[in-house]
Formats: sequence, structure tokens, C-alpha cells
Amino acid sequence: MATRITITDSGQTQTLNGPLAPDTPDNSLQRVTEVYFAKKTTTDNGTRVNFTKIDSAHVQQDHQNQNIPYDSILGKTVYLIIETSNMADLSIDAVIRPSASTMTENTDPLQLMRFVSPDRYEAQRLFTVQVGNFDALNNNGGTHDHYTNLRADHSNKAIIKLQLRPDGRAVFDDWTRRLADNSINLEVAVERTDNNPCAYGDGQEEVNGAGIFLNDDRGRFRVVNKNIYTIHHGSNIYNTLQVISTNPERRRRIQKVRNAHSTEVIFFYYDQNDNEHRICARTKESVTRKRRVNTIPPLAQRGTLLDTIDFTANRAAGEQIDAHQLQVYSNGTLGDGATDKWYANQAESVDLVNMDILENAGVGPQIFEAFNYNQNGVIIRYGFQHTRRRSIQPDLFAGFLGSLAQFRQEGHNHYIVSQGFSYSDASCYPSAEHVNGEAGDLNLLTTQQNGVNTILTAANFDFDNEVILRNILFDFGFILGRSENFSNASNASTADNASTRLPHTTHTATPRHNNHLHIHGFTPISDIYA
Ligand SMILES: [Zn+2]
Repeated sequence: MATRITITDSGQTQTLNGPLAPDTPDNSLQRVTEVYFAKKTTTDNGTRVNFTKIDSAHVQQDHQNQNIPYDSILGKTVYLIIETSNMADLSIDAVIRPSASTMTENTDPLQLMRFVSPDRYEAQRLFTVQVGNFDALNNNGGTHDHYTNLRADHSNKAIIKLQLRPDGRAVFDDWTRRLADNSINLEVAVERTDNNPCAYGDGQEEVNGAGIFLNDDRGRFRVVNKNIYTIHHGSNIYNTLQVISTNPERRRRIQKVRNAHSTEVIFFYYDQNDNEHRICARTKESVTRKRRVNTIPPLAQRGTLLDTIDFTANRAAGEQIDAHQLQVYSNGTLGDGATDKWYANQAESVDLVNMDILENAGVGPQIFEAFNYNQNGVIIRYGFQHTRRRSIQPDLFAGFLGSLAQFRQEGHNHYIVSQGFSYSDASCYPSAEHVNGEAGDLNLLTTQQNGVNTILTAANFDFDNEVILRNILFDFGFILGRSENFSNASNASTADNASTRLPHTTHTATPRHNNHLHIHGFTPISDIYA
């Protein structure tokens, strides 16, 4: 007597006694062969699509090719793939449930957000899906016709696209609080919608009731707490984030999943063909906001001296750092240089991440390479020169990574070198505008493309590509900038022969802005629950 488990609309399961399984030859069995979570991968310039399993038997790697000890993250978008045989066009019900009560205090099926149309994810607990239906692959125009191999390679699959999150922030916060630093395994129960029998896995007969997948050591789907940034190439037609202007249509390019119970931040980039790239992980630190004020308080009003960061060795080695030292007090930071500046603590805090991923040691005037990502057609390379201001807000970092990725994908090979954002305490001597990881300076691009700095009027200034980079940075959220009016008849670009200025910048000659591009005024990135 087979045990029958019927998935009902309430998401609960009930056990009944069903009829005996029919005796059918193997090769004609109606069968759910495999059920797995996956990420979408495309080839042939985005015209062929496939699915890569993500579970404990198909471990993913980070940017250093180290194994990642989990498979997905709460709030992340994934695909659930149900592979079948002899079940063309049949409808299947699926539920996803935790294998332990850690996260939800029970093991009932989860209500999760399912992709139902280009502008809508809908909360569902019971996922009903038809074998051979490809609506889960629709782009933001509502079609999947650009994939040429759907019939040939995927007609036996039922495909669900979903986000691993409930529909409300309060419930999400409950889940993440209970999960904390643990991981939760999610398993999947599937059954024909018409409740007729089918075989599961390599089973020898068609049986009544549900089949359970991802519930043993052959493969588990392990989900954890992290903050997520989802960054889209500007030409990604699967970007379904908010439309911010029409004709031509422009959308928000980045979304975040704020997780109150993790300080880890993972940056994902979706390229022009919607391939997913896990760029890097950073730990965010909450620091007290700073504001540069004109009056330096007397010693007695600065609070306790917490730290002194000395740049004597850097300066002696030729690093052009304006600060001689930073004195970090409990009430603010004194920048000690040609003219001392006081960065007063503010009431609020701000999250910062360290952009210096490679942490190359040493001092000197050379470029310190800080990141060099080169995987699956995406290259993101940047460094720092003459600065130890290497901290940035996570929102801006997402915009910076997206800009550099797209710039390279559009065929520009310049090494991007920064003259700094903020110090790790959110101060930024001698600047006022670079506080709180809100602004950055970039070396001007040269035709040598090697990151070495130049000035607007030099023969090697690469104006045309600087304009392209500035516009991409603008599109990823760096709305404001500073540069200078100039003309340059000595370089290869002809567009700057007459007086001009870089797009999205204001002329700022005091202090001089002829030897770097200053970017700021970043548009805040919306949370997935906003
Ligand atoms: Zn600046």
C-alpha cells in the first residue's frame, strides 16, 4: 500500500492511503527525475540558456576559487527546476519547506515570492507549474523568444523563478533573527496537480503521493543570512527593477536585500546576458558619521584619544598623503596636516566597507592594486595611489563595481585608479565632501590605459573614454562630479579641442580638479522591501 501525501492549497500536507502503484514498463513511466535549485547560465551571446545546479553536491566558488560553505542567501533570486520524463505539458505542484524549525519555528512549507510577470513577484506557498512552460524565463518585455534552445533542451522541465523571502519585512526580520549565524536546509516536495501517480528519481514504479527532493546527503540546499547587492549591466533585459524614465526606458540598476542579522555583504553582478557573477564579499562596519567643522575644539573637549594613525613613513616614501597623522578621539577625528581639520562625530552612524580587497602591503608612490576580478568574461580591476582613504559605503561600492564591470565589458581596458574615498573612521582629511564614504577621486584616464595619472591638458589624456566612464558612473548612481573647464588640442581626442568639461561635473578650480575626477551625490539604493 503506497503512502499518499497530497499537497493542498493551505500548504499543509495530509497522509492518506492510496491505491497500489500500477505495474508499468520502466521506459514509459511518468517520472519526476530530478528537482533542484539552479542559477541560469547563458552562452552564444545570450541566445542559449541552461541551468547550473546549486546545492551541497554542486558547491559554488568565490572570487578566489575557494568553496563557499552555503548555497544561497535569504532574499536571493533562484530558479527551481523540476525535470520530468513522459509528462509533457502536465501540471506539477511544488512546496519548499525547511528541514528544521530553526527559522520559522516549524517545518511547514514557506510562503515565498514567485516571479509571475516582469513587474510582479507574488507571495505563494503552493507553486503550480506546467512542464514545458517557459514564462519564468521572460525578460522585462515579457518574452523568452530570444532563447533558441528551449524546445530542444528544456521541454521536459517545469521552471519556477522565485526569491527566497516572504512578502513582508517584519516576517523576513523574524526569519533572519532566528536563523542568525546558522544555515537552514530547504527541501522540495512535488506532486502532479491532478494527483495521479508518477515515479520519482530512479524509482521503479509510479506511486501515489508526493516525492521529496534535497532531503538527504546526495544534495542539500543550504541557505544563510547575508546582505545582498544585485547589480545589473545597463543592457540587461532581465532587469525588472523600477523604471525611472521612459523613451529611452531606464531602470534602477541595483537593488539590495538588507539583512539586520548579518554584517556580511555579497555583491552580485548580472551581465548584459543576465549571467550571474559573484563579485566579492565584504564585512560592513558601523562607524559614527563625521562632519568637517571650522573650529577645532580644545584638547579637553575632544574626548579620549582612541587611536593615532601616522603617515610619516608613507610620506617619506613618496606617498602624497595630505595628512601627517590622524588622531581619532571619542568625539571626532583631528586631521593633522598643513592646516589641521576637525571631523566632528555626528549623532548617526554609517556603514562602511574596505575597498582594499587585496591588501597589498608597503608604502610608496606606486599604484597599489586593490582588486582584480577576472572570471567568465567579467573584469573588474582597480587600485589606489597616494591615498589610504579606502573605505566606502556599500551602496556606492555596488555602483562602483557595476560601473567598472560595464566599462570593461564595453571594450575599455583602462586600469581604474582611485585617489581615495574616506578613511575607515569616516573622516577624509583634508576634504569636507569625502566624509562618510560618500565621495571618491579617480585618476584621469590615459591612452596608455595603465592607471598612471595625468591632467586634463596633457597629451596622453584620454578624453573620449573618460567621458564614457563618467557617463557609466552617472548611470550607476554617481550623479554629481567635480572637474574643470579646459581645452586640449595636444591629445588624440578632438572633442576637447575647444573649451569643454566632463559630463555631470561642475567646474571646481579651488582646490584644483584638473588632475582627477571627483564623484559624489550617489543615489541611495532601494531595499527589496522598499
Ligand atoms: Zn574629491
